[in-house]
This record gives sequence, C-alpha cells and structure tokens, in this order.
Amino acid sequence: MALTADFDLLVAGGGAAGIAAAVAAAQAGARVCLVEQHGFLGGAATASSVLTHCGFFDQTRTQVVRGVGQQVLDRLASRDLYQTETFASTGNTVVLLDLETTKSVYDDLVAEAGVTLLLHSRLSGATVEDGRLVAVTVDHRGGREVLTARSFVDCSGDGALLAAADAAVHVSPVSERQASTLVMRVGGVDESADISADALSRAVQDYQAATGVELGRDGGTAVRMPLSREVMLLLADEYRDVLDVAELTAAETGARRQAWHYLRAFQRGLPGWEHSFLAATGPQIGIRESRRLVGRDTVTAEDVSTGRRRPDDGVARCGWPMEDHATPGVTVYGGIKDKGWYHIPHGALVSATIDNLWAAGRLVSSDNRAYASLRVMGTAFATGHAAGIAALLHARTGRHDYAPVREALVAQGALI
Ligand SMILES: Cc1cc2nc3c(=O)[nH]c(=O)nc-3n(C[C@H](O)[C@H](O)[C@H](O)COP(=O)(O)OP(=O)(O)OC[C@H]3O[C@@H](n4cnc5c(N)ncnc54)[C@H](O)[C@@H]3O)c2cc1C
Repeated sequence: MALTADFDLLVAGGGAAGIAAAVAAAQAGARVCLVEQHGFLGGAATASSVLTHCGFFDQTRTQVVRGVGQQVLDRLASRDLYQTETFASTGNTVVLLDLETTKSVYDDLVAEAGVTLLLHSRLSGATVEDGRLVAVTVDHRGGREVLTARSFVDCSGDGALLAAADAAVHVSPVSERQASTLVMRVGGVDESADISADALSRAVQDYQAATGVELGRDGGTAVRMPLSREVMLLLADEYRDVLDVAELTAAETGARRQAWHYLRAFQRGLPGWEHSFLAATGPQIGIRESRRLVGRDTVTAEDVSTGRRRPDDGVARCGWPMEDHATPGVTVYGGIKDKGWYHIPHGALVSATIDNLWAAGRLVSSDNRAYASLRVMGTAFATGHAAGIAALLHARTGRHDYAPVREALVAQGALI
C-alpha cells in the first residue's frame, strides 16, 4: 500500500463529525488519516438519507455553527444548493441536502485539505500501551493495515474505536435508547399533494383500520427534497439493540416491510400520491443511539435547558432542542433557554480513560436528555471541529489545555 502509515491524527468515521475533525486538523498543518467503512463520506446524511442538517441555527434563526461546517455551506452555495427551511411550529431551521451533491462536496473538501482518505476501510482493532492509543487496525478488501498516530478521534457514531480500545463507554438499556429509523425517499408525489403530519397520520390510521396492519407510528416528518423533489419520510421506527447483529438484521428487514405499508397507505389515502413510488430506503437504517463516550465532563439536560455558557472551556455551541425518540410512536421535545444555545465543554470530548483519545458527533459524553439535543449533524460539525483541533494540539504538546484549543478554533472561523 503506497501510504504513510504514521500520522499526527487518525480519525475514525467520515460523517459530519469526522469530516470536520479531519479537515480542521489538516488545514492546521497536520498529517491526518480519515478512515471510513463505506465507499463515500457523509455518514447518516448519505448512508441513511438523513438529508436535513439540523443544528446550524438555534430556534431564533441565529447561526451557531461555522468553521468547517461553514465551508460545507459555502460549497453548497457555490453549487446553488444552499437551501434552508424554517418550521413555523417550532422555529427550527434545517439545511436541505441533495444526496449526490453532498457526497461530491465532501469529496472535494477532504481532498483539498490534504487529508489521507481511506474508503472501504473498517476500523477493527486498536493497540493501547500505558493508557495511550498507539495504533489501529483497519480491514479492507485487500487485507489489513496497521496505522499509527499521536492522537485519535472516534467519529464513528457507534464508538467503534472506543470499543476497540476498551475505553469507558455509556450504553443505555434498549428500553431507554432512541429509535432507529429507516428513512424512505418517495418519488412521483404531486407538487400539490398534502405532506403535512396531519394528512399522513389520517392516511395511516385509515390504512391500519382497513387492513389490520399495525404500524409503529402514525405521524412523522415529511420534507420535500431539493432537485429530486422526492419526499423524505421518517416513519419506519425500530426499537432494537443495534449492537446485536441479529437484532440489527431484524431492524433492517422489519423497517423495510413497514416502508412498503406506509407507501401503500399514502397511495390509497392521499390525493396526489396515486403514482408515488419508493425511490430508495436507507441504504442503511438510521441509527440514533448505540454507544457513546464517557468523558472527563458530561453535558446534562440541565445544561441544555438553562442554555449554560462555559466561557472557559466551551468549545462548541449547540442550538438544537432536545428531540427524544425513546418512546415508541412519540417524539418528546425539550427546549433551550430563550430558544438559544448552550456550550459543549472540551471535557465532554475527551476520553476519561485513554489520554490521547477524543470523540465527537453522536459520541459526545452526555446524559440521555442532553444526547437528544447534541447528536444532530450541524452540532456534529462543531464538536468534530473542536475534537480535531484539541487532538492535534495534544499530539504536538502532550497537554490538555483548552485555552489554546479555543484560540485555534476562533482562528479557523468557528463560533465558540
Ligand atoms: C433516522 C434519523 C433521523 C435523523 N434526523 C436528523 C436530521 O434531520 N438532522 C440532523 O442534523 N440529524 C439527524 N439525525 C442525527 C444525525 O444523523 C446523527 O446523529 C449524525 O449523523 C451524527 O454524526 P456523526 O458524524 O457523529 O456520525 P455518523 O453520521 O453516523 O457518521 C459515522 C461514520 O462512521 C462510519 N463508521 C462507523 N463504524 C466504522 C468503522 N468501524 N470503521 C470505519 N468507519 C466507520 C460510518 O460508516 C459513518 O460514515 C437523525 C438520525 C437518524 C438515525
């Protein structure tokens, strides 16, 4: 393999958090390796068709995430595909994504930053010596590589590196974990068709009454996508242990069966849906929760609801309210003070047990209610950016000071 196997920083997982961590560190002059198991970047956005970025704005429509995340928005804008939508009912603002444009923007951003990107490469093992990670093992079609680095960031969503390194992790009981959802993309829906939650709910209830089929939820999110004009639907929920392969398999197949029932419900129950078709599911079921980091600090529900500011050690802002999918069929919301934002501290990104290991995105150290807020992709860009810079500075100095991390983030245009 024609590859330098020794890096300043190794990042596991190429979703929003991993892209931000790798690009930030590379743009700061580091030798960075980004390892991604799929053949494309984007994480849940591209692998599970989660095509709305939440968390770039708080509920007053004030932007709270810039830095590497802003570079992504600028690249979308340069392709005339920076599109936002604000939901009148909540004040939540999302950035709407086109799937193939998103993949392409991420390819360009990572390549131009000079990151060594390994696609189709699954992190499968780690070597820890004296409380420090020294190497990881990566499997690919041609065999196995051992990659060494000074610092490591786990952005794999599922905590693959945390688990391989036997770092402390939090895993909620399945009954308290958030649902996994198979995202459906439906084509052929008339532009004039009603896609409101009320209309969908009525159609699902009528379908259940007529057929006797029981579906997990009758209401859910429907969003019209740019370019393709497909309707993206978040309905097919599964409450299973995604860390158990038999359960995960059952979740995928069960959610696919549900998807066809939902499609039939809308085809027969809603005007304008008669010629609709299932353009795509997944391709992978969207996983909201599995493992996450036990850090030196933990974000709590109180930090979220009070909009806690951390002028000393805050390294990322989160403006997305708590959106908890742990109760079947129901989404439980909880707000942030004044509809604003709170700080995520540096300590919630650093492993409590391994000196040179960070985690970001949906791995941030948090209690269950706070997790329901900070796991979204806009915020994942912010925590990934912060973790990438913190890990790089640690690689250079061996220290965990957060003041230089904050300075470096500001210099790179991040909002802290
Ligand atoms: C159904 C659903 C709907 C959601 N809706 C929204 C929404 O509308 N807006 C929003 O902002 N957020 C939403 N979220 C949350 C959001 O998608 C995730 O929390 C977010 O993607 C987390 O970003 P991440 O970078 O931490 O992880 P991910 O996006 O999950 O990326 C992790 C990456 O790591 C890779 N990886 C995993 N294991 C390995 C390994 N062993 N080796 C190599 N690579 C590996 C994966 O392939 C993936 O590319 C939703 C989530 C779900 C499941």
